[in-house]
Amino acid sequence: MREIVVHDWQAGAGVDVARLAAFLGGTLGVAHSSVPGGAAVRPGGRGRALEACRVHDTRRPFWQQRGGARRGGALELYDGHELLAIALGAAGPGASPRGALHIMVTDLLVGTYDEGDARYHARPVVASNPSILSTASAVWGPARSVRYYAEIAEARAGGGDVAAVEDAHAGEHLREGDARMRAAIEGYALQAAMYALTGEAFCADSQCRLHDAHRQEGVLSVVASPALCAPHAAAIGGLT
Ligand SMILES: [Zn+2]
Repeated sequence: MREIVVHDWQAGAGVDVARLAAFLGGTLGVAHSSVPGGAAVRPGGRGRALEACRVHDTRRPFWQQRGGARRGGALELYDGHELLAIALGAAGPGASPRGALHIMVTDLLVGTYDEGDARYHARPVVASNPSILSTASAVWGPARSVRYYAEIAEARAGGGDVAAVEDAHAGEHLREGDARMRAAIEGYALQAAMYALTGEAFCADSQCRLHDAHRQEGVLSVVASPALCAPHAAAIGGLT
């Protein structure tokens, strides 16, 4: 990999892609650049192509999706692998293992279908070249605390104050616009880069930035003191 190119696919300010590119370039010792302007991959921009990536039924693999009525709700889910086709078009012919790694940062909710439990899961990182990072999936993918879910369910069932429960747990998980999002996305970006470099994105060490944390508690534990484990620090040092 000679270069990392980070593309801004966000509707709002969100993650600073130039800063993310500089972080990756500095950490991995490769050239870096960024591509601003995510309008092309927003609904209403290149809407039709994007629309074709939308998941209608989270219990069926994408090839079995029938389209039709909108799923509804504030958060539409998009298929990560289908989005990669759009990303490939945006990346151009330079995307190859020996050329540039392209990383798209989106605020769409991105998921992939898991054959194991026959349903979609939100994925903060879909590692490939290009790779896709999703801030919305960083918010909604890793599980929140058992106590949070129980209290929310109780408030909803009993007509309680859901907003008060949300406020009480505010610091426990990533939220939209969270100041900790930058560090979280840096970790996911490193996972994408490691996958491109070595074919293995994740680390078993729960305190390594390459750890695939399934719970918000784990994500935020790494974000609080972001570092690579010794073997990965050495591996990355050896690459540069
Ligand atoms: Zn590690």
